[in-house]
Formats: sequence, structure tokens, C-alpha cells
Amino acid sequence: MSNYKIALIRGDGIGPEVVNEAVRVMEQVGARFGHSFTFEDVLMGGCATDAVGKSYPDGTAERCKACDAVLLGAVGGPKWGSDRPAYERPETALLAIRKDLGLYANLRPAMLRPALAEASPLKKETAQAGIDLMMVRELTGGIYFGKRDKYRTEDRGLEATDLMAYSELEIERIGRRAFELAMLRRKKVTSVDKANVLETSRLWRATMHRLAKEYPEVTYEDMLVDNCAMQIVRNPGQFDVVVTENMFGDILSDEASMVTGSIGLLPSASIGDTAPGLYEPIHGSAPDIAGQDKADPIATILSVAMMFRYSFGLAQEADAVETAVDAVLAQGWHTADIAGAADKLVGTKEMGRLICEAIGG
Ligand code: NAD
Repeated sequence: MSNYKIALIRGDGIGPEVVNEAVRVMEQVGARFGHSFTFEDVLMGGCATDAVGKSYPDGTAERCKACDAVLLGAVGGPKWGSDRPAYERPETALLAIRKDLGLYANLRPAMLRPALAEASPLKKETAQAGIDLMMVRELTGGIYFGKRDKYRTEDRGLEATDLMAYSELEIERIGRRAFELAMLRRKKVTSVDKANVLETSRLWRATMHRLAKEYPEVTYEDMLVDNCAMQIVRNPGQFDVVVTENMFGDILSDEASMVTGSIGLLPSASIGDTAPGLYEPIHGSAPDIAGQDKADPIATILSVAMMFRYSFGLAQEADAVETAVDAVLAQGWHTADIAGAADKLVGTKEMGRLICEAIGG
């Protein structure tokens, strides 16, 4: 019997609703496999601004670091918009926690669940070929964290610059993650860059080539980012692990997610070299449906499966959650974000209950 301590950042909008269902699923898995989970609520996001005047209260990172993993619902909403100072805005808290926990690798699986092939916007024959890729995005470097400037020129009005910088250390550690993940999957890595134009991409490519020699079992290829954007729509079945820098990954991971269907189904993990990893659905706080028992909890529940697999090494437990989700969807049960028969439409809580029932134990 093992005990795991999990920090819960319920957040704003639908965050608390979807986290509730994920907690029920963890308890169900605990009952079936003989684990126990202790939960520690951590206040962060717009709700924290309302309660204590800042979205990232003092001690947030320390409280998370005292846990084995962090589960985040979603933060944000129109109430805490760009007219607020940075310390009150929920997005500030998101960037801060990633940095403070050293989460440099973002893992986003894009998988077309068999019961939902119809939901994919791709051509039928492309969707039927299946999609099961893992996007590995560098999360704490590159242009989003580089030096920026805005200044007035003499003859061209205002000018702005954002610096994209990458070190070998940053590239190597994310590259290793990608190769190690590929070893657990179908043993293929596609490294995405813009080496025909960017110096950072040439360093990226050279570093990846050096690493590839250490993983002879893995098939390695380079791909230019513009080609990759096309290939994700044309033939996503060719990809296993795709690794890329921060901004390219931001854009490509959204594209890869969207070709699989609903936003309410997609989990993610952000990990560093030391515990705890942070697990969250890719969707936001969906203020338009908050508090109405309409949110799809599956993305958060599948984030728990990732937590079991990547933070706790509980592969069997992760499989049990994923299999239960597939079984419930295959029976036609769905929340409003997924098309399906009207008599099989359920709310957030009922979807959570059905998944727990399918896990059994
Ligand atoms: P969103 O993902 O919240 O919503 C986009 C659309 O998808 C909405 O119509 C929403 O109802 C629907 N949707 C999202 N999740 C769903 C679910 N689980 N079930 C059913 N439908 C779902 O994106 P947005 O509207 O651009 O952003 C809303 C707020 O969320 C903003 O404040 C934004 O900053 C924040 N946000 C937070 C995160 C995060 O916490 N990591 C990520 C993205 C956006």
C-alpha cells in the first residue's frame, strides 16, 4: 500500500467541478489497487486574487513542493482581465508556478480515442488511420522568456524585439525526455525546428543529432516547423514523439490537439527533474459553462492517468483509468461538448460517476 500526497489547485470557472471528478477517480483507483491519496488544497488564480489580493499567494510553490504531484483545474476568467495589475492576473500565477517548480518539459498526448473518430475534423480516411502522438514542448526557455524591448526609432516609429535564446543544456535535457519517452512508446522521435533560418534551431538540431547517437533503437528525424504544421493535418499517424522548442510547441500542440476532436478530452503534464510534476487539462476555465454541471471532466481525469504513469510509475493504474474512459465513451455516454445521442447526454458529475463505475474495484 502506498500513500501519495497531491496538491489540488482547483482554480476558477469549471476548474473546481472537473477537479472534483478527478478526485473521485483517484479515490476509486485507490480502492481498486490499494493506494491512498491525501489531498492538499492550494489557492491560486482569480479565486486567490479575490481571497488574498494576489493570484499567486506567498508560499504557493513551497506548498506544492511538499506534495508528490500537483493537479490543476484551470485558472482565469473575464473578472481578472488585462486591466488588472500583473500580480492579480491568473496567467501570472501559471507562469510563476511552472518556473518555481522547474517544469521545463510539457507533455501533451494527442490521441484520437476510437469511439470519437467522427469528432475529428480530419478526412475520414486520415482519422481512421489513427492518431497517437506525444508532443514534447520545451516550456521555460526560448522567445517567451527572452529579453524583450520596445523603443522609438528616428524614422520607423516604435520598434519591438523579443530575443530567442537556447543553451545546449536546455536543449539536451528536453531532448533526453523525448528520447526516453520514445523508448516507452513506438521508438520514433521527430525533432521540429527552423534550422534553414534560425541559429537557435541549428544548435537545437546539432544537439539532437548528438543525443540521437545515444539512443540507437530510436528512429530519429528532423522536420521543419512549417512542414510539421502541414503533416499534422495531412498524416498525423506518422508521428510518435514530437519534440520542439517553446513557441513552435505552443502552436503545434494546439494544432495536434484540435485534430483529435474535443478540447474537453485532452490532458497534459509539465515535468522537471525533480518532483512534483504538474498535471492539468489543456482547456481553460470555460466561464461560459461554469457552475452548470456541463463541463467535460475527462481531460482532467486523463491528466490523473498521466500523473499515475509519469510521477508515480503506476502504469497499470493509468491504463485502468484510460480504459474506463474509453469504455464509457464507447457506450455512447457524453457531455455536451461531444456529439452523440440525446438520451446519453450526461453532466459533469454523472460522467465522473460512470468512469468510477467502469474502473470498478
Ligand atoms: P476555454 O478552454 O476555457 O474555453 C473554450 C471553449 O471550450 C468554451 O466554449 C468552453 O465552454 C469550451 N470548453 C472548455 N473546456 C471544456 C470542458 N472541459 N467541457 C466542455 N466544454 C469546454 O478557453 P477560453 O474561453 O479561451 O478561456 C477562458 C479562460 O480560461 C481565460 O481566462 C483563459 O485565460 C483561461 N485559460 C486558462 C488555462 C489554464 O488554466 N491552464 C488555459 C487556457 C485558458
